[in-house]
Amino acid sequence: MAITKTKFINYIRCPRYASLDNIKKDKLDSIVTIEEYKEEEKQYQLEEILGNMFDENGKDLIDVTNDHLETMLPYYNEVELLAGHLAPKYFNGTFKYSKQTYNQESFDCLINNIRYICYVDIYNENEEGFNIIEAKATTTKKYLELGTKENSIFQKDEKGIYRLLEDLNLKIEDYMPVETYEKQRAKLFDKYTGPGHYVYDLAVQRYIIENDLKQNNDKRKVKYYLAVLNCKYIFDGTYENDMPKYNEINGEDIISYIDMTSVTESMMDKIMLDAKRVEDYVNDLYANPVPLGPHCEYKKVTKCKYCKICWNVLPKKHSILCYMDNHHGFTKEGVKYSTFDLINEGKVGMLDIDESYMTREKNKIQRKALETNTPYMNKQKIIDGIKQIQYPIYHLDFETFPCPLPRYSGEKPYTQSVFQFSLHIEKEPGKCDKEKDHYGYLAIDHKDHREELIKMMCDLIKEGTVLVYNDSFEKSRIKELSEIFTDYKSRLLKINSQIFDLMNIVKTRSKMYEELGYDKEEAKMINYYNPAMDGSYSIKKVLPIFSNLTYQGMEVANGVEAMVTYARFPKMNKLDYEHKYQKLVEYCQQDTYAMYKVLEGLKKAIK
Ligand code: SF4
Repeated sequence: MAITKTKFINYIRCPRYASLDNIKKDKLDSIVTIEEYKEEEKQYQLEEILGNMFDENGKDLIDVTNDHLETMLPYYNEVELLAGHLAPKYFNGTFKYSKQTYNQESFDCLINNIRYICYVDIYNENEEGFNIIEAKATTTKKYLELGTKENSIFQKDEKGIYRLLEDLNLKIEDYMPVETYEKQRAKLFDKYTGPGHYVYDLAVQRYIIENDLKQNNDKRKVKYYLAVLNCKYIFDGTYENDMPKYNEINGEDIISYIDMTSVTESMMDKIMLDAKRVEDYVNDLYANPVPLGPHCEYKKVTKCKYCKICWNVLPKKHSILCYMDNHHGFTKEGVKYSTFDLINEGKVGMLDIDESYMTREKNKIQRKALETNTPYMNKQKIIDGIKQIQYPIYHLDFETFPCPLPRYSGEKPYTQSVFQFSLHIEKEPGKCDKEKDHYGYLAIDHKDHREELIKMMCDLIKEGTVLVYNDSFEKSRIKELSEIFTDYKSRLLKINSQIFDLMNIVKTRSKMYEELGYDKEEAKMINYYNPAMDGSYSIKKVLPIFSNLTYQGMEVANGVEAMVTYARFPKMNKLDYEHKYQKLVEYCQQDTYAMYKVLEGLKKAIK
C-alpha cells in the first residue's frame, strides 16, 4: 500500500479520514499494483462523471449507488481513449496511453518513508521532455466560463490548445479588467469548486512526478494538461459501424486540451504543505471527531465516504441544513456565522438556531412553521397564481440521458437527451384519471427516437396550459429540440410559450407576482411552506403533503434510477427489459400525476 493520488486527495480532507480508513502505517512504503490503483480511481472517476451529468439537470441528486456508477464506466473509458486518439493532432512526439492498465506510465517517490504513486492517462514524450495529459469527463464550459460574458481567461493558441491569457503573453486589459481576471483565475485554486477540483488533482500528480524526477536526477522538462470534452462541439450525426464518429466540425474537436503548467507550478508549495499534513495525519491516526466543513463535501457526489459516521450528529429531519439558503450563513448582532460554525458549536437542528440569527424572512417562516407545526400560506398569492392556469392542463415531464459523448446529430457533450415524456391531460378542473388520461412516449432502445417523441408530443398538446415543475429544465430541452428539428420549430416554441411552472405557485416567482401587482418584497416571498418539506420544494417533498401518492417502494423511484435504467436497456435480457420498461413508464407517469395532485391539494388548501 502506498499513498495514491486518490488517497492523497481524500486524506487531506481532515485529520480523521486516515484513521477511519484504517491504514497500516508499516505498509505505506510498498508498491501498489496498477490494478489496485485503477480500482481505487474508478469510484473517484465515476463520481466525477455523475457529478457532471447532474450539473444542470435541476433534479434532485439523491444517493448514488455503486450499481449506478458502474453503468457509467464505459462512457468514462471512452472519453479517456478519445483524448489519447486526438492528442497527436495537438502534440508532437510519442504517446503512451491505454485502456489496458499495464500500458500506462507511472511515477513514484519516497518521502519520509511514505511512497506516493500515480499513473498518467496520456504520457507524451518529445524532444524537450514530456507532457502529462490527464483526461477528465468534464467539459471546457467550467473553464471557459471563467472570465467575463465575452471573454474567458483561457484562449486558444495557434495549435488550438487553451492557455491562460498570461501564458499566451496577451494583454489582459484587452480582454477584461485585470481585477476580474485575477478574481476568476483564483477559482482555479479552490479545490472544492468545479474547475479547481481537477486542477488540484493534476497538481497532486505533478507533485509526485516532480519528486520522482528529482529523486532520479532526471532533468527533463514537463508540461501539464487537462484533456476535457469540448462544450462547443456539436455532433453532426456521422456513424461508422453504428458508432458515432467524432470528426472535426467547424474547427472544433470533441476533446480540448488546457495547459495547466503555470497554474499547477504555483500550487507546488501548497501541495508540499498538504503532503506534510497528510504525513502527520497518517502518523497520528487521530480517530476522534473533527470539525465538519466544506472538506466533507456533504450533499455532493464527491462527498467523503465517512459522512455517514461524522455527519450523524445532524438529526435526520429538520436539521440546520434544511434552512433555505443556509450556504450564505447566518448573522447575529452583526457577526457572520457559517452553517459549519454553528454545526460545530452543536447547533444542529433547526430549532437550535434562534430567530436572532436570521436575516432571511423565509428562514423565520420555516422556523415558525416547525415550532408551531403549522404550515405557512399566503392564500391570496396562491389564488392569484392558480388563476393564471388555463384548461385543459397538460401536465408534462421529461426524462433525459445526459450522455458525456453526444449520441445523435445536433447534440453536444452532456446534452440532456430526451428519451421519455409523460403527459396527463386534465380537461376540466379536477378531472384527470391516472390511467385513462395518461399519454407518454418512451424510447424502446438507444437509437435516435427524438423525432417520434416530438411528433407525438406536438400532436397531443393543443391550446391550454402546459404545466411543468421547475420550468427551466423542460423549456431548455424543448428549445434545444426546436433548433435541431427545425420542421417542428414553430410547434415546439408554441408549447414553450404555453408552459407554466407549478413551482411559481408553491414557492413563488417574483417577476410573475410583480406583474400581478404585488410589491417587490411580497412577490419574492415564498407562498407556501410545510415543515415536512424540510426546506425543499422538489416534487418528491411537496407531493406527500397534498396526497397519499408515494414514490416509496417504486422500482424506479427517482431521476437517477430512471436514467440508469434507460442506460442499461441494451444490456438487459428480454424479460428484464420488458419489466424495467414498464417500471420506467410508471415512474414518469407518477411524476405528472403528482403535479395534478399537488395542484388539487393547493386548491383545497385555499378553500
Ligand atoms: S466526513 Fe468530514 S470530518 Fe468525517 S472523515 Fe470525512 S472529511 Fe473528515
